[in-house]
Amino acid sequence: MVTKTINTVEALQALISQHKSEGKSVGFVPTMGALHQGHLTLMQQSLAQNEVTVCSIYVNPTQFDNKDDLEKYPQVLEADVALLESIGVDYCFAPTNAEVYPDGTQQTVDVNLDGLDEKLEGEHRPGHFAGVVQVVHRLLDIVKPDKLYMGQKDFQQFTIIGKMIDELKMPVDLVVCPISREESGLARSSRNVRLSPLDRARGCIINQTLLEAKEDITTLSLEALLNRARQRLTWEWTDLEYFEIIDGHTLDPIKNVRHHTYLVGVVAVWIGGVRLIDNRVLLSEKP
Ligand code: AMP
Repeated sequence: MVTKTINTVEALQALISQHKSEGKSVGFVPTMGALHQGHLTLMQQSLAQNEVTVCSIYVNPTQFDNKDDLEKYPQVLEADVALLESIGVDYCFAPTNAEVYPDGTQQTVDVNLDGLDEKLEGEHRPGHFAGVVQVVHRLLDIVKPDKLYMGQKDFQQFTIIGKMIDELKMPVDLVVCPISREESGLARSSRNVRLSPLDRARGCIINQTLLEAKEDITTLSLEALLNRARQRLTWEWTDLEYFEIIDGHTLDPIKNVRHHTYLVGVVAVWIGGVRLIDNRVLLSEKP
């Protein structure tokens, strides 16, 4: 099956309206490219649940608080399209900045996020979530999918987008897909290619720390859990930004494990000059 690459909003919308008029459901997976197996699990879920799957590949400049990170972001469209084709994705939408932001990037989305965007990643990456909300809102407006697929890898991101969808009553279902990991347990990320083989192997410490926290969430004190985890992530080759145990709804760091039913361990740590994030649900309301 050939994956059609489309660069303009007009061309994509013409194809999508045709499919919709035939009663077909559309699944949408927004990405910044440099696709890996983790991204493909999102596409596969969309392919299984919809008749048409659209993947967007767009490195959105407005969500980068760090110019260097934006410039270094890997761009490998040809290889990405080959991967999409290998699993049968219908469309690859790869727009220019002018297509996404025809009136410039000044216009932001007016939505109450209850401060979800201000903590954790928001604190360390000022303006990041305003950019994410801006681009996802715009892409949803362009594609108008029935279902939107996002990864649990970016816990705060999907929580914020879910809030935006609810607040603005956008007619789309958000489907959150589990974190896909390398064999070592390191969460797959487009940034992993920038790690040396040694640092890539060292990165397994993040998942190990999260697993350990999950194991002891009901038996150890919060202080003991946090101290141990932060210690585990502190080496001469790491620079720990944060390890927190948060309430999965509010994203606030908790004060007492027993006062919550949905707990998530969240981490941001630098290894070998690369900023890595990961998370794990430590306690869940769901059976
Ligand atoms: P990105 O291109 O990094 O912005 O990611 C695009 C989408 O893929 C986001 O919804 C991410 O959460 C998701 N994603 C990235 N890495 C993973 C992973 N290892 N497992 C599951 N989803 C992922």
